[in-house]
Amino acid sequence: MPHVLTSTLPDATASRGGSSSVLAEREASTTQFPEEEGVELRSRADGKGDGVLATRPFAAGETVMVGFLIGALTDNNSHATQVGPSRWALHGGLGPKVNHSCDPNCGVRLNDGQAFDFIARRAIGAGQELTFDYAMRNFTIDHFPATCLCGAAGCRGSVTGWKDLPAARKADYGELVAPYLRLMDDDIAAQAPLQNAM
Ligand SMILES: [Zn+2]
Repeated sequence: MPHVLTSTLPDATASRGGSSSVLAEREASTTQFPEEEGVELRSRADGKGDGVLATRPFAAGETVMVGFLIGALTDNNSHATQVGPSRWALHGGLGPKVNHSCDPNCGVRLNDGQAFDFIARRAIGAGQELTFDYAMRNFTIDHFPATCLCGAAGCRGSVTGWKDLPAARKADYGELVAPYLRLMDDDIAAQAPLQNAM
């Protein structure tokens, strides 16, 4: 569940269910995938729904979780992962459960299966929650309400997409973002002189 206020996914069910709901959910989701050794889904201590936690330390640059797709989509929805300017996909496993942060400890890298792996941006300790910035994958974000509750010192205040990120933040994320986002920026930059001349 994302760190955002949402009317469609009430936090009350997650906090009321406690650990038993997490166990039930894990059993229902075809148990643990081998790609997800070292991570697990848990109810967050603050009662704000579920999070994906590291069960062992990861070094900066290490692959924390290997992503895989379970379906393609022709348009965006609240469960979709954007994989191209007008392409979305459904990821399996725990990837969709990783929460947003404006100061994330993970980035994403497209793998050979056209799915996103999670890569540690800095050292992650056992027991720490994995986070990434939704703007690393989505050019625009239309399906989340405005308020971000990530609690990071540099929180943007709302969960925004790539197009709204400051240039310094984009540079900071380096290669750990969806490759199509950089290509779209290049296209926009290439168009800009033409528009200015008109
Ligand atoms: Zn935030």
